[in-house]
Amino acid sequence: MAKIIDGKAVSGQIRDEVKEKIEALRREGKEVTLAVVQVGSDPASCVYVNNKKKACAYVGIKSLAYELPEETTEEELLALIDKLNRMEECNGILVQLPLPVHIDEDKVIDAISPDKDVDGFHQSNTGALCIGRPGFLPCTPAGIVELLRRSGVELAGRNCVVVGRSNIVGKPVALLLLRENATVTIAHSKTENLKALCRQADILVVAVGKPKMINREYIKEGAVVVDVGIHRNEAGKLCGDVDFADVEERCSAITPVPGGVGPMTIAMLMKNCMLAVCGKGREAGR
Ligand code: NDP
Repeated sequence: MAKIIDGKAVSGQIRDEVKEKIEALRREGKEVTLAVVQVGSDPASCVYVNNKKKACAYVGIKSLAYELPEETTEEELLALIDKLNRMEECNGILVQLPLPVHIDEDKVIDAISPDKDVDGFHQSNTGALCIGRPGFLPCTPAGIVELLRRSGVELAGRNCVVVGRSNIVGKPVALLLLRENATVTIAHSKTENLKALCRQADILVVAVGKPKMINREYIKEGAVVVDVGIHRNEAGKLCGDVDFADVEERCSAITPVPGGVGPMTIAMLMKNCMLAVCGKGREAGR
């Protein structure tokens, strides 16, 4: 039986560590404030935003909620970001994605001050990650590496295959694994012989966005499997990109869905907010 990598427990430890540091900052007279901006009322986004607000309340971060109507223009959103960039009490800015189609997401991300970019999506922070300079790390990839580290998974020298090359998960997690001295291969929809490639992985990270696509045929005996995917079926039940029941016997350790990578993302967001107010956000990547 595979060991279950418990993201809920590990993220709980991180949240408690952040809470303690925020209490210490408060004793020095420093408050941590995160602006959470949502445009429209996409149901999944509402759930994510609510979870982020709850996590803020738990660790002692003040959240400023900006719930804007679907028809908000790009100019109006950019004007709000400009205001938040200049607002001294606001340490972090989070714009919930996806944005309505009439708004250019890249333009919005570029408008956020890199020093308040707690999602780690600004090109200045992604570029810093790429060349090993200090910067905010994107929350899901940073959460994956932290989860592996705290679960005692050795990364240096191991063969890691990342399936998926998105800017928010696949590419940055590959760069972070490389930073941990793993030997990393990135696979995507044009990769040939995907099964054979995945079967070479000591650590397989799956972020394809396809429910239960990865079955036991993709898994090397004894591999560690990280499932980033989140899908909800018609009955409201969650599953990942990996067919958990099919692969469980074959791997040595696996992250479940729910309770694996998902809770780590929010814990790392809280950590980035705390680092932002310490003035250490831009050192987070070291
Ligand atoms: P994207 O859709 O942006 O990217 C999917 C990637 O998978 C692409 O690079 C695509 O390749 C690749 N891909 C798609 N089909 C195949 C295939 N058949 N074989 C090989 N590669 C394939 O997804 P995201 O990276 O944004 O998200 C991935 C999953 O993670 C989703 O389920 C999402 O919900 C979840 N997620 C979970 C988070 C969490 O907090 N736990 C946070 C963010 C995402 P190509 O580039 O060639 O198109």
